[in-house]
Amino acid sequence: MDLYAVFGNPIKHSKSPIIHQMFAQSVEHKLDYRAILAPRDGFIDSLDLFFNGSGLGANITLPFKEEAYQYADVLTLRAKLAGAVNTLKKCSDGSILGDNTDGAGLVSDLLRNKVTFKNKRILLIGAGGAARGSILPLLEQRPSELIIVNRTQEKAELLANTFNDFSVEKNTKINAFSFDSLPIEEYHLIINSTSTSVTGELPALKAEHLKSCECAYDMFYSKTATSFMSWVNEHNYKTKTLDGLGMLVGQAAESFELWRNATPNVESVLTKLKSEL
Ligand code: NDP
Repeated sequence: MDLYAVFGNPIKHSKSPIIHQMFAQSVEHKLDYRAILAPRDGFIDSLDLFFNGSGLGANITLPFKEEAYQYADVLTLRAKLAGAVNTLKKCSDGSILGDNTDGAGLVSDLLRNKVTFKNKRILLIGAGGAARGSILPLLEQRPSELIIVNRTQEKAELLANTFNDFSVEKNTKINAFSFDSLPIEEYHLIINSTSTSVTGELPALKAEHLKSCECAYDMFYSKTATSFMSWVNEHNYKTKTLDGLGMLVGQAAESFELWRNATPNVESVLTKLKSEL
């Protein structure tokens, strides 16, 4: 049977095996998808073993996304700009393609939830790996402006500079701020890519920043509303709030399509995962 796997450390709680088995069922494919715990200093050896054997494709999760970026022979543009790889594919000539599907997963989830981008200003909170992987897919939707705010302002500025050429190409402005300097202006879509919700904390946004917010998205997900979603709901009841479960399933769907050339049923998988959180 065609062999795929997710590599990470830890890996026990990964939802990827169940997601990909459900995807395979939805398009009547048969595949073997495993969760592989790679040693922190032995990730490359694990990958070699997998791809020199019968492995056809892999998802890569923490803490190996940068090492996977180095491992790939060829990179997609979005992986190159993200500086990280979450999907590897063994190509027919034996070379390994590296892709980053996290940002595309985010955008597909936003579109599925009827979020629109035309003439909209997006506020992206955070400048870590998840933010970096999301910027190109967000710019491709051609919002009017993408504003990055981060606790460490230099990291936000670095990202804005990295993507400046693409923002010009897409006719979108890109700017970077610290929380203290972030103007009180219209932000139609606010995306929290910080890890604050993991510990129930909040990014240092002001309630005034929410006044024009139509949708607030937290990349983190949990059984109940995340701390960020609860804070938004408290300060602007009109804002639609979404968590990152749809992004997780969306990025997996992008990987599946790359490997299998088939479009899986995202909706049914999302419904099942939500019921099992
Ligand atoms: P990183 O460690 O790369 O980045 C963390 C970011 O959070 C940085 O911008 C950091 O700011 C900021 N941050 C951390 N603590 C605070 C705080 N107390 N106040 C303000 N800012 C803070 O993490 P990732 O980018 O990999 O992941 C971020 C989040 O996205 C996580 O919650 C993760 O679960 C989620 N995620 C979800 C995915 C999905 O499929 N749903 C996929 C990938 C990630 P600074 O630069 O100043 O340190």
